[in-house]
Order: sequence, then structure tokens, then C-alpha cells
Amino acid sequence: TDLSHIRNFAIIAHIDHGKSTLADRLIQICGGLTDREMKEQVLDNMDIERERGITIKAQTVRLMYKAEDGETYQINLMDTPGHVDFAYEVSRSLAACEGSILVVDASQGVEAQTLANVYQAIDQNHEIIPVLNKVDLPAADVPRVKEQIEDVIGIDASDAIEVSAKTGLNVAAVLEALVQRLPAPTGEREKPLQAMLVDSWYDPYLGVMALVRVRQGVLKKGQKVKLMQTGAVHLVEKVGAFTPKLTELAEIGPGEIGFMSASIKTVADCQVGDTITEEKRPCDAPLPGFKPSIPVVFCGLFPVDANDYPDLRDSLEKLRLNDASFSFEPETSAALGFGFRCGFLGLLHLEIIQERLEREFDLDLITTAPSVVYHINLTNGTQMDLHNPADMPDVMKIESIEEPWIKATIMVPDEYLGPVLSLCTERRGEQLELTYVGSRAMAVYRLPLNEVVFDFYDRLKSISRGYASFDYALDSYIEGDLVKLSMLVNAEPMDALSMIVHRSQADLRGRAMCARLKDLIPRQLFKIAIQAAIGGKVIARETVSAMRKDVTAKCYGGDITRKKKLLEKQKEGKKKMRQFGNVDIPQSAFIEALKMG
Ligand code: GDP
Ligand code: MG
Repeated sequence: TDLSHIRNFAIIAHIDHGKSTLADRLIQICGGLTDREMKEQVLDNMDIERERGITIKAQTVRLMYKAEDGETYQINLMDTPGHVDFAYEVSRSLAACEGSILVVDASQGVEAQTLANVYQAIDQNHEIIPVLNKVDLPAADVPRVKEQIEDVIGIDASDAIEVSAKTGLNVAAVLEALVQRLPAPTGEREKPLQAMLVDSWYDPYLGVMALVRVRQGVLKKGQKVKLMQTGAVHLVEKVGAFTPKLTELAEIGPGEIGFMSASIKTVADCQVGDTITEEKRPCDAPLPGFKPSIPVVFCGLFPVDANDYPDLRDSLEKLRLNDASFSFEPETSAALGFGFRCGFLGLLHLEIIQERLEREFDLDLITTAPSVVYHINLTNGTQMDLHNPADMPDVMKIESIEEPWIKATIMVPDEYLGPVLSLCTERRGEQLELTYVGSRAMAVYRLPLNEVVFDFYDRLKSISRGYASFDYALDSYIEGDLVKLSMLVNAEPMDALSMIVHRSQADLRGRAMCARLKDLIPRQLFKIAIQAAIGGKVIARETVSAMRKDVTAKCYGGDITRKKKLLEKQKEGKKKMRQFGNVDIPQSAFIEALKMG
């Protein structure tokens, strides 16, 4: 296609503002699918994505649109991931486009993620088309939201398009605006291939697929291409586009977006942000902005039933095929047995993987408390990354510990601001900014990430009745007074429950965990001491008193078969017991203790 007839755009929005619904309408208008094929929400095709209403993987479709000027345009639509954990993926999707549609729910207004995404689009020099969605709702307040867009984001909203993606009202005007307002891409056909890898995923039939945006040159079947970051060379097997059905094409030319498959083994070899060029005739330089994806939140995943261990490993490998940003390695715990230490881009990413393992792979899992990555400066002058509190070196060997801090933006209606500010302070936050947008406050804080992974988001939602929105970006590593809090039963440490906390929080957390364990650990024939300790120093303590009499004797009479059954049951129960010194603790106690964070 001639470049002047191509438009590439991303849709950006806060969760639930109607991005996917609008995308589906655009597809429908362009006739990409018949009504029968038009399942509800084509773009969110994974079950979990649909249920949670978020997009995890960017999906791209190529539409042919006959505009009012009588010409037909190739329109490439990119749905961006809708969550902060995937900020880098969003930035690459945006880098593949010339413009963005900014969808704002006219009954809600600008939210934290609207801002985060739109600033990224501005960074990419995007032409931005504001679209006010849900104007069919009685609560829609178009003038107020337009004003907000101008005041908070600082872009002109006078020509914002007012639509209802639900009813279809005015949606065609969005397509017209794309053609008229967005610049066409540029790029020379004759030059050596230079294409950006925007996303990759595993297709059970075609293997690893890569979504690409060609900057210059041409990508075609049979070509030998090189991935500039990894240096790997692959033979291109197929190129094509989703219309939204998978359609093979002869080539992907400059300015175009499409996919390629090239018998690449794993998505780990297909990193988002990499540059694809020709092996024989490479381009001068890779495209800017490549960042390897680094997990920031770690936790242990253990099968509830030890027999599921091989299945868990297989399932993790399958997931990893499709998700290069997720990592895992074997871990052994005295409390939980054999499992894996897994790394994620953020808490949501963790939840998604956990949910998929339980749902798609039918595994019962125990998840240990999420932990961030600490930088530990050792007295011998070296630095280590700590992914697991259990691996914390001896305090005598530690010079200092650095923890990751984030910069968080919270938007909340005025009346809930007080508790939100208290929460941030309680979590060691430092206020950077506090401004108002009408009756909504916008607070910008620096917060330690380890305080955020510990139920911050749930608390924020509950104290604001769900009205607060939250977005963050990693900021920097800063030295902190951090200690390892260990939990002991009769002086024996329980590895799965140790955590790294700021000294100022240690008492509180230690006492809470002791109280919780007191309720969870069943009485035994002797007294059990439950303690929280920092190094050798006990900071909290509870006691489980000894059982007074043999309760079992009374319940079961002389019936021999019943007694046998009971013995068998006891044997089974034993298997699920974990021994710490002389104390037997049912695995369920750990599961419960961990559940409560
Ligand atoms: P996304 O998270 O931005 O992709 O949002 P969705 O497209 O999944 O929409 C979120 C919810 O808003 C869904 O329940 C939609 O049915 C609803 N919705 C989307 N657009 C409209 C609209 O124009 N009017 C109304 N009333 N509801 C809408
Ligand atoms: Mg969506």
C-alpha cells in the first residue's frame, strides 16, 4: 500500500473506559468480521483478560476503511495492555504508531492510567485524538471531562469526538478522524530492512509469532533476518496480518504492521523492543529504546499436593513459552516442600500467572508472600540481588541494603483524600505533589515498592470505595533500614514465612503474624512457642498451650473397622504435616498464614 494510505494508531485508556468495546465497533464498521463471527469483544480473547476486563497482550488488527474522500485506507489498530505492570510493552506498542486515540469515559473522567498512558504517547510525538466514550450514560458530563483533559493533560479537547461504543453512536467519526488527523507513516522501501519487534507469543500451530512494525525496507517470506539484540538469524516462514482473521501476505512494507513466523524456538529469543534486519544487508543501527524485561516481584509457588510438582514444572514451561518476562527456578522449602521461585513484572502479572496455573492447568498452589528484589552490599565489597528472604546472608556480612522505590500517581475524589494520604504515610511514602482537578485530587508519592506489594492496592481500593485509581513506575534503589523478620516455632525457623521489612514495621508485622499462627497451629501434647525474631532478638511471642486430654479416645469406640479407617486417615494427614523441630504443623496452617499476607 502507498504510504499516504496507511494509518497506525494505538488506543489508550484507563481500565473499563471502553477501549475494547470501541475497538470491536471499529472492526465491525470496517467489515472485518461478519456479525456471526463478531463474538463479544474480539480483542480480549483470553478468558482471564475478558473476565478482568484487561488486555495482557497487545492485539493488532489491520482494517480496510473506505473514507468519505472515496479512498480506501489501511488502518492498523493496536490495543495496548491496560496495566502498569506492562508499561514497557505499552511504550513499544506506542512506538509502532504515529498517533493515539485517547478514550475517556465521559461519566468518570481522567484517571491515573489515562495520564500514565497519554504521557507516554506524548513522549512518542503522537498526534492524539481525544474520544469521550459512554455519552449514552445519564451520568456523562461532556463539558466537565473536556475541561479536565485540557487542564490535566494539557491537550486541546475542543474537537474531541463524543461517542457511545456500546450503541455505536458516532463511532464512524473516529475512523474519519484517524484518516484526516493522523500523519501517514514514512519509510523507504529500497533501504535495508529495519523493523521493530513489538510483541511475541506462542501459537500452537505456527510456533513463535512476532508482531512487527517495519520502519524501512521490506519483510518477506524466505528472507534471512537477524535479531540485532540477540544476534540470532532466522529464516522467515510466513508474514501476514490479522484482519482480524490471520491472513498471509506476500510482504510487510515500510510503515506497515504485521506478524512474522520463523521457526523461532521460544519467545525468550524474541524480545519486545528488538530490531529485525536482513542478515546479508543489515541496517546501520538498531532502533532506540530496547530494554530487556526484568522481573521486579518474586514469590515462591508450591504445589499443595507434592505429586503435582512435575505438572507444575511443565505448566510453568508452557507459560514461559508465551511470556518472556516471567522467570522461574526450582526452590525447596522445609515448610512447603519442592516448588519454584518465580519472577514477575508486577503484582498483577503474578496474579495472572497464578490464576492461569490454577485454572488452565488445574493445579492447587501455595504462593508465598511477594517480595521485591533487594540490592545487598556485602562487607567484602560485592553486591548481590536478593530474590528470596530465605537467602538473606548473615547480618555480619551485610554492609547495607538497598530497596526499590516507585513514583506513584493516585487520583481520588476529595472526600477520600484524607485516608489515602494516611495510607501513603503509613507505608513510608514521601509526598511529591498534591493538586486538584475539580473535586478530584491527584497525589504523587514516592513509595518503597515492598510496602506496595503488601496489600497496598487492596487497602487503597477499600478506603476509597473503589474510586481511587493508581499508577506507578519504578524510580530508584535507595538504602533503607531493612531487616529479615523470621518466624520460629519452638525456636525452629519456618522458612516460608520469613520476610524482609523496614525496621519501623517489624514489631507490627511480627505481632500480627504470631497472633495469626497461634490460631492456625493446632494444639499438641506440649506447649508451643511462636516467636517473631530479627537476627537473634525475639520481638513478639505467642504460646499455643498443650492439649489437656486425649480427645480422640472418647470419640471412637471399639469398632475395629472404624479404628482402621481412622488410622489410615491419620497416616494421610501425616503426609501433609511439616515438621519443625518437635512440632508438627499441617500444611494448611502455612497456606492460611500466607493467604493473609
Ligand atoms: P476496556 O477495559 O477499556 O477495554 O473497557 P471495555 O471495552 O471492556 O468496557 C468496559 C465496560 O464498559 C463494559 O462493561 C462495556 O460494556 C461498557 N461500555 C463500553 N463502552 C460503553 C458505552 O459507550 N456506553 C456504556 N453505557 N457502556 C459502555
Ligand atoms: Mg479491554
